Amino acid sequence: MGKKADIKISDFYCTKCGKRSMSLPRRNGRYREPGHLKTLWCYHCKEEVNHAEIRPFGGYNYDDFCEEFICGRFVNGQRVPVAQLHGCGRSECRYNRNGKCWNANNSFACDLKKKWGIIDD
Ligand SMILES: [Zn+2]
Repeated sequence: MGKKADIKISDFYCTKCGKRSMSLPRRNGRYREPGHLKTLWCYHCKEEVNHAEIRPFGGYNYDDFCEEFICGRFVNGQRVPVAQLHGCGRSECRYNRNGKCWNANNSFACDLKKKWGIIDD
């Protein structure tokens, strides 16, 4: 049982620009929740931003990050919990996941949100 076996490389993706900033060796075995967020310097954004950790194995992969990032789940570097997402009855909307609006950062000019005063008209 060498120590090297305990080290796995994680990729870190910026929650602001969506690009991969860096890869870091991480000790295996220490539990972190899937999609763990870590503050790192993003050389694309030129500032410290939360990054989503993607491990070679585990419950959160690059597709999951893309889904969250493209939909707009990250607000100020934080992943908005599902319980805090707005409910929405438009099942055909691309931002709708199980009746919740994943566009938490309001990047999409939704006419319902305008109507409800959630975003400016
Ligand atoms: Zn960035």
